[in-house]
Formats: sequence, C-alpha cells, structure tokens
Amino acid sequence: MHCPFCGAVDTKVIDSRLVSDGDHVRRRRECITCEERFTTYESAELVMPRIIKSDGSREPFNDEKLHSGLQKALEKRPVSIESVDAAVNRIKAKLRAGGEREIPSRILGEEVMRELRELDEVAFVRFASVYRSFKDLDEFRQEIERLSKGS
Ligand SMILES: [Zn+2]
Repeated sequence: MHCPFCGAVDTKVIDSRLVSDGDHVRRRRECITCEERFTTYESAELVMPRIIKSDGSREPFNDEKLHSGLQKALEKRPVSIESVDAAVNRIKAKLRAGGEREIPSRILGEEVMRELRELDEVAFVRFASVYRSFKDLDEFRQEIERLSKGS
C-alpha cells in the first residue's frame, strides 16, 4: 500500500475494522517515511493474511482447510453445519480485523481451539490434545486422516 503523500511503499496499519457490510475492511495506515496518516477501504477477501507454516514457508489462507480441520474435530458430534460455518466466519473476521499480512499457523490453531471450546467440549479436547503436539494445522489434519483410515 503506497503512501498517497510521499509514495513510500512501507506503511503500517494502526487500526483495522470490518465495515458494516462485512465485505470490506476500513484501515487507518501510517506512512513509515513521512508519518502521514490515511484511510483505506479494502476488500475483505483480499486481506486475509497469509499463513506462516512451522517450517517457515508461506501459504495463502485456505477456507476449505479450515472447514475440514473443524469438521474432523467435530466428527460424530452433535454440532450443526451452520454452527461450524459461523465459527469459520468468526475466525476469518478476527484474522482480517487484525490487519496482519502474515500470521503464524499457531495463531490460527489457537483461534480454532477457542471456537471449538464454545461449540463442543469433546471436540475441543480431541483437537487440543492432538493439535498441541503438532506444529501446525496441516500436520494435525494429516494425522487425523491417517488415524481415520486406520480404524
Ligand atoms: Zn509518506
């Protein structure tokens, strides 16, 4: 995001919030070079942070992956699809509102745990006990897949 005053490339986000339609994020930014402040409106979909995996590589935020992670933990639990969708949306809104361009996958995992704790105690314990020993969501998902194939 270029500074409109001096054209510098580096600006930092000082405040970030979802606009009432939920599809846009209003951001206050400050230029690191000239310290002028300005406001931007950005499409919410475009501002999902990238995920920093445990090995340091980056990947785009993946909606499906988040869904399947939650669903695996909630397998055979009495929780509706609607509740899972709502949880996914809350997690996404939170990540967007944070205004970070990249976040460690650990942060995403913590958000998932927070939502699961509200949704279903059993799923939470299931997820937390397995997830905590893994470095990121990918590893967790692979392990769950391996276990469910074996049974
Ligand atoms: Zn500037």
